[in-house]
Amino acid sequence: MSKVLSLLLSCFIETQLAKENPTNPTEIVGYFPVTTKEQAGEAIEAAAGAFKTWKQTSIDERIIMMRKAIEKIRAAENEIVHLLSREHGKPLYDAHGEIYVSLMWMEFACNEAKSALQEEIKEHENGKTILTYDPIGVVAAISPWNYPIALSTIKIAPALLAGNTIVLKPSPYAPLAAAKVAEIIASEFPAGVINVVHGDADVGVELTTNPHVTKIAFTGGTETAKHIIKAASQTIKDMTLELGGNDAAIFLESFDVHDERAMRRIVISNFLTAGQICMIAKRVYVHRSIYDEFVEKYIEAANRWIRIGDPFDSNTTVGPVNNLKQKNVVLGLVEDAKKRGAKVIPLGQILDQKLFDQGYYLQPTLVLGCDVHNPIVVEEQFGPTVPILPFDDEEQFIHLHNESIYGLTSSVWGKEEGAISVARQLEAGTTMINTAAVQGLDVRFPFGGFKQSGIGREYGAEGIRTYTEKHVINVPKTLDLPYIPE
Ligand code: NAD
Repeated sequence: MSKVLSLLLSCFIETQLAKENPTNPTEIVGYFPVTTKEQAGEAIEAAAGAFKTWKQTSIDERIIMMRKAIEKIRAAENEIVHLLSREHGKPLYDAHGEIYVSLMWMEFACNEAKSALQEEIKEHENGKTILTYDPIGVVAAISPWNYPIALSTIKIAPALLAGNTIVLKPSPYAPLAAAKVAEIIASEFPAGVINVVHGDADVGVELTTNPHVTKIAFTGGTETAKHIIKAASQTIKDMTLELGGNDAAIFLESFDVHDERAMRRIVISNFLTAGQICMIAKRVYVHRSIYDEFVEKYIEAANRWIRIGDPFDSNTTVGPVNNLKQKNVVLGLVEDAKKRGAKVIPLGQILDQKLFDQGYYLQPTLVLGCDVHNPIVVEEQFGPTVPILPFDDEEQFIHLHNESIYGLTSSVWGKEEGAISVARQLEAGTTMINTAAVQGLDVRFPFGGFKQSGIGREYGAEGIRTYTEKHVINVPKTLDLPYIPE
């Protein structure tokens, strides 16, 4: 074989894509293989093959393997966190936070799996009924770039514990750390039980149309989910969809604007991970009676907490946006709001101007004076900007909240009793009182969205059972058939 031909062949077999560092896009963090449609099909076949024996294993065996995987992840935490921070752009403390949430959930899933999947037996007047939670089969897990490890392990742990096999496709915008964690988990499980493929929509389509895939667990944008629902309809796949949100925070008249801890909390709830979190507070409504003072205190708190810089610098609280596409989406919304007459206030301090200029950085902004239907208010910005609007009465806010096509999370801030009463009227999967975003997350309870924010739930016992088929076995007491003539 000629040298040129062998080089061409090796390029074909070993095609790799480079992942850039968002703080310095000319720096390559690592390479990941491009999976072809055929290779994705092979990964699904491997998962389908492994399922035949994996589903026979006992829950105790699976829990032991998962616990070993958890220990290995914990031992490799520093290495994983550094990789995540470099490929994603989130500061180190934030990357540690992601591992913390991931492990908390994996531990919970191990502790909860037995009772969540325990079969139920009911003796009754007609005999006996057994309800079992059977594995579904091959799960296609498709995750986004913003929390690549947490939103992959949220699927991997319960899917495997429930006896399924899995093919994971992380996002090409943050594939390395998620693949690393999947690889660590895979090292504790039999071959074929957990498989990783890489790519974007092309590979996604193979995962969502292949007849051997019986469940799709997807986290990502609502528009992508529409394609997935169509693709999966050909083989009627089970689906859990965790989608976009436009989560509102409401500050009632009873909220104390002088509470510095609370002001710090809302700022973090707007700008953690540079605002790139599905459940971050993306629009803020403040009762008109406290609005002016609130804005003043908010700016003070934001300028104290927001320090934009190198994710590896322990002073940094906000890193760059993960990718250029998302940076442009956010910039577009802010520019549009300006054109419509909104006032845009930059927040925080830039610690390293040179780095800021070279990376996908965006200075966080506060947007004031928007109309309630301004795109920056009604669309998901998914980045470091937030509009604050006044409202006159709770009815008006509840209407504005519930007219959204989304309903992922919301938060109500103020005296507890009044806040809970407003919370009960909001159409959202989770409502937090006097906190918001991941600070208010509780993995012991189901998480998911109303309306176009999703279908189904992750986390909690529900987030384990969602990876099962409910199988009812009826055992009648007698062979008599009372209504049917002899
Ligand atoms: P995205 O929809 O662009 O991509 C998500 C994943 O889907 C990626 O792995 C991508 O490669 C894959 N994909 C793209 N097209 C596909 C197709 N046609 N078929 C199958 N897979 C396909 O989302 P993103 O930009 O990575 O993430 C941001 C979005 O995710 C935001 O809307 C955010 O709110 C949402 N999100 C929701 C939650 C939640 O729990 N509800 C959590 C995090 C992020």
